[in-house]
Amino acid sequence: MLKFMPEPFKIKAVEPLKILSKEEREKAIKRAGYNTFLLKSDEVYIDLLTDSGTNAMSDNQWAGLMIGDEAYAGSRNFYHLENTVKDIFGFKYVVPTHQGRGAENLLSTICIKEGDYIPGNMYFTTTRYHQENNGGNFVDVIIDEAHDSTRGDIKFKGNVDLAKFQKLINEVGPDKIPYICVAVTVNLAGGQPVSMENIKEVSKLAHENGIKVMFDATRCVENAYFIKENERGYEDHSIKEIVKELFSYGDGCTMSGKKDCITNIGGFLCLNDEELFEKAKELVVVYEGMPSYGGLAGRDMEAMARGLEEAIDYHYIKHRVHQVRYLGEKLENAGVPIVKPTGGHAVFLDAKAFLPHLSQGEFPAQALAAAIYVDSGVRTMERGIVSAGRDKHTGKNHYPKLELVRLTIPRRVYTYTHLDYVAESVIHIWKNKYSIKGLQWTYEPKMLRFFTGRFEEKE
Ligand SMILES: *Cc1c(COP(=O)(O)O)cnc(C)c1O
Repeated sequence: MLKFMPEPFKIKAVEPLKILSKEEREKAIKRAGYNTFLLKSDEVYIDLLTDSGTNAMSDNQWAGLMIGDEAYAGSRNFYHLENTVKDIFGFKYVVPTHQGRGAENLLSTICIKEGDYIPGNMYFTTTRYHQENNGGNFVDVIIDEAHDSTRGDIKFKGNVDLAKFQKLINEVGPDKIPYICVAVTVNLAGGQPVSMENIKEVSKLAHENGIKVMFDATRCVENAYFIKENERGYEDHSIKEIVKELFSYGDGCTMSGKKDCITNIGGFLCLNDEELFEKAKELVVVYEGMPSYGGLAGRDMEAMARGLEEAIDYHYIKHRVHQVRYLGEKLENAGVPIVKPTGGHAVFLDAKAFLPHLSQGEFPAQALAAAIYVDSGVRTMERGIVSAGRDKHTGKNHYPKLELVRLTIPRRVYTYTHLDYVAESVIHIWKNKYSIKGLQWTYEPKMLRFFTGRFEEKE
């Protein structure tokens, strides 16, 4: 048996790739202000910026687009999506949104009051933005080890630290905590999963205190795969059974369809509480559209319903996680510092250890992402001090412990050979790391600054 699962699909349509020369790439990154988000996609050879909306849809999903019912209200594709989500996730009510942050906006607006606290297992950029924008304060309750990139021995590094959660309840009182946000998997910790056991305990503690459990379900299928692989008692459960059990401990979720629904756009909010659902339906009309399309075309809802069915296929998800692991092992074997263990959607380079000659204030992860692009045309993303932003009260920079470059693998898009090329480039830079210079701002946006911020090399 091969160690890594080969592709459980074959290629039916291809998109040719362009490769620029190194001189052209040097020019491009300067023009982009050393921000890989500001590169044109035509300037990129292998795009590992994100796994969000970059998925390759199946022939079945593409066929589904043709039966899009573009009625303003009551589209049949909505009912298909609603039934599929209810069947797989088990929640009572489903509100479609244009993508995950649309659902976050609805949830935060209907649940959070000024001065509330929202515990979560590490922040996510848009999630925290919507919580704070509604007067909430995010409190990180993930286990300490999640912030330690060397702890490859821990299988469920996304777990909630129950003592931290309990401490917050004691300090501010349960009335100030409308819900705990549990991300499965935890993107910013490196795509790390949460165990079923932890979810059960979190749910028990939350519900005893009248606090709701809301999942960030974005990568729930990847999380389910890790539970099947590593948690005792789940070896023989199907991915679908695990997903359903996981959500049975919660009261709702936000979902970005652009990840584990294997589509290019879409999202939804799930709720069990009828009153909250009524509020969400009133609000979705203002921000997204009718509750039966939520900012999506009928065909997009069809693709999302079909994608979700495909995502819970064991062979699909095994291959996905194995691709990530394959790239991680190649880098690790060459001594490159990566976050361990590798998670579900990406390999994260530890930029502080990679570039020991730069201080965090010189934006090592930003500089490393730019250097990888110049070396090979591979686009990656900063997940460190630039992404962490400034404290909303003091205006001071957050200095996150993890200063990372994310190499995100899109679903069903690249082959193992592409990943060999990526590994070769990163290893080449690792061997020549001292030539990489720090960066300084030339333009710092006020919010979500990693999207549009600009830099230049320090002398
Ligand atoms: C992508 C993502 C979101 C937001 O979803 P969008 O579809 O990009 O709006 C929320 N949480 C996590 C963990 C994500 O990865």
